[in-house]
Amino acid sequence: MHEMSVALALVDHVAEAARADGRERALAVHVQIGELAGVVADALDFAFELAREGTPLEGARLVVETVPARARCRDCAAEFAVGAPPDLACRCCGGTNVELSHGRELRITAVEWADGPAYAASADRKG
Ligand SMILES: [Zn+2]
Repeated sequence: MHEMSVALALVDHVAEAARADGRERALAVHVQIGELAGVVADALDFAFELAREGTPLEGARLVVETVPARARCRDCAAEFAVGAPPDLACRCCGGTNVELSHGRELRITAVEWADGPAYAASADRKG
């Protein structure tokens, strides 16, 4: 199950941050997941519940923000929603010289700790 490896990576990453920061417990982990990242939110929730046991994330909530897939046309610079199932033809000129601008996100945006203010995982942001 793909979601289990994603959950384990999330837990690892936050547990590492907890060690580095001297935090004992996380209350919530906020993640952004793109529509096309291939992650099923319910399955990830379930995997996260298993993965967090015995870590500083035990009892922590997983807050998922789904990012809609969007693409940008290299020919006419139009931006459009890709939709599901994904359709990568430009809505403006019909061309296929497009790049995905959103929709593959899989990142931690913030962690709420039991003993302090939210820590923004800015190093994880890209694009
Ligand atoms: Zn176009």
